[in-house]
Amino acid sequence: METEPKTICGGCLCGAVRYEGIGELYNVTHCHCEDCRKSAGAPFVTWASFQPSNFKFTKGKPLEIAWAGRVRSFCATCGSALTFTSQPDADEIDVTVATFDQPEIVTPADHIWTEDRISWIKLADNLPQHARGRTE
Ligand SMILES: [Zn+2]
Ligand SMILES: [Zn+2]
Repeated sequence: METEPKTICGGCLCGAVRYEGIGELYNVTHCHCEDCRKSAGAPFVTWASFQPSNFKFTKGKPLEIAWAGRVRSFCATCGSALTFTSQPDADEIDVTVATFDQPEIVTPADHIWTEDRISWIKLADNLPQHARGRTE
């Protein structure tokens, strides 16, 4: 997967929270884990990672909610799921690709946590599938 360094803009449904990411995106993946499903209210969530120093909120501030040691952020007004970090000082911040202004700017590389996949989601994109995380 190659992505040219450029500014990626996005935000929540209502527009109260906007963000900007620059530089190389990595780990563009569809996550089927139950935590992502439940928190987003969707069958799976597509994420892209930025280095924290390359990502900032440019309008508003999301509500951060810690659950199971991980922090997810949401628009406090409309509820859009925006970011995920595995710990407060994590070296990457994952952003929901579906909230990008132009989600098609990236190409997902794989599926993770497919052992949690809802059976009526049929994967036919030929991308690699990992039962759990990518490293397991
Ligand atoms: Zn909003
Ligand atoms: Zn997940």
